[in-house]
Amino acid sequence: RGKTTEAVRSKPDETLGGLLLPPVVFENSTCISRSQEYSLRVKTSRYKPSLDLIAKLREYERRHRRCAPKAKYFNLSKNATEREFRECRFIVWIATAGLGNRVMTLASAFVYALLTDRVLLIDRSGNPNELFCEPFPSTSWLLPETFPNEWMREIKANSSFRLGFLIQNDALTSSHNGYAYLNMMHDYDGYDRKFFCADCQAYLSRFPWLFLKSNQYFIPGLHFIPEFHEHVDKLFPERETVFHHIVRYLFHPSDSVWRLISSFYNTNLANAQHQVGLQIRYLAKPNITTTTISDLVLNCTLENKLLPNVTLSEDHVDDSPKNTTSISVLVASLHEVFYESLQEFYQNRSSSDGRHLGVYTASHEEGQYLESIDHDKKALVDIYLLSLSDTLVTSSWSTFGYVAQGISGVMPWLLTHLESGEELEEVLRNRNYCHHGVSLEPCFHMPPALDCDNKGWYDNPGKTLPYIQYCEDVWWGIKIM
Ligand code: GDP
Repeated sequence: RGKTTEAVRSKPDETLGGLLLPPVVFENSTCISRSQEYSLRVKTSRYKPSLDLIAKLREYERRHRRCAPKAKYFNLSKNATEREFRECRFIVWIATAGLGNRVMTLASAFVYALLTDRVLLIDRSGNPNELFCEPFPSTSWLLPETFPNEWMREIKANSSFRLGFLIQNDALTSSHNGYAYLNMMHDYDGYDRKFFCADCQAYLSRFPWLFLKSNQYFIPGLHFIPEFHEHVDKLFPERETVFHHIVRYLFHPSDSVWRLISSFYNTNLANAQHQVGLQIRYLAKPNITTTTISDLVLNCTLENKLLPNVTLSEDHVDDSPKNTTSISVLVASLHEVFYESLQEFYQNRSSSDGRHLGVYTASHEEGQYLESIDHDKKALVDIYLLSLSDTLVTSSWSTFGYVAQGISGVMPWLLTHLESGEELEEVLRNRNYCHHGVSLEPCFHMPPALDCDNKGWYDNPGKTLPYIQYCEDVWWGIKIM
């Protein structure tokens, strides 16, 4: 691939500075993406994993190999003790919500496992291994097939072993059967939110089994627990790189997904000198039509010179461009209309700077389908293609975009969130169609009130920790900056 002048072409480092094990270690499983992905990503990340993180991951891999097979001894009719599992403790991630949410919460659960010396095992529903390779060598992250899966999927907010329920009924410190359910869904209650209090963590450490269901990127909240805060800081001295490193460590597209990614990329995008990814998440709102959003995207990209404008007259197409470089634009969206409108804008017109421009889209599902593996695969293809962009424009509020930005390490331009016609008028008046992001981290949309002493609501998270601030896109959410 020809590259922009600022790009650095260096020999691809398959281990990303020691973050990953060399692919040859995974001799028993095929995972093409492990050896090919980083030769496709010509630009190396500016962020390096710390030696502490690398050491922690190697220690984790050993623990996972030792402990994962013991999960088959989990028995609902018997109280679970740590000793029975040979000093192994587990956190089980239960799948819920869209792919972006799932990747974010799995990454959060993994960081929690690192901090608490637990082993992360995952629910088989949604066929995770059809999407991703096994992340740890010589073992599996899937729960054993014999695990009481139906029981697990029945776990809900009224389960009597929910953390919030145990706290509310003063049962956390008294007898327990060795497992607890961490409800970290967006509507979790004040008791569940005590998860972010140091006392609660001390009690939870006695439970060999934790079951987690979440649609939240909750790592920013871990900073509020002093012990975790020190630990996270040591592992990630560059604070806003937690998700970036973890997502690159944990997620490698499966062979079938990788073939789709690489063939689309090589056919359509690879030859352009500059690649722009547009992620357009559209949810219908009163007075916000697809045309409104197409205009917002175009205005954002033109105003900030992310894409070239076109020459005014369609009759005066200059056939001899002085500038021979080219741009590829990937439009990732459920809806084809956004691709079509951009394609139409550039069709039969020259770009004002003479660059050749191609507009592409890999899929348009037109709707969101739960429990369809082909649908999920297309979503993963789009996330990875976006993550290969040099310039990224993403939709506010969307975890899909957070994942693409996290994998790429490219700070995105965030489209202004529009809820109503009034907001649209304001955007048009002030021409603030989008703004450049200030942190690579995803937003924790529903943070806790941090009322560990039951003294009342906290106001500004930044008063406690200056590097935890309100998100750029969701004003009540928090993120690491
Ligand atoms: P969020 O709802 O934007 O936070 O993102 P999620 O990924 O959690 O859920 C949205 C789901 O809709 C995805 O998992 C996909 O199944 C689908 N989806 C949304 N945007 C796109 C897109 O640009 N491309 C594809 N292929 N699917 C998408």
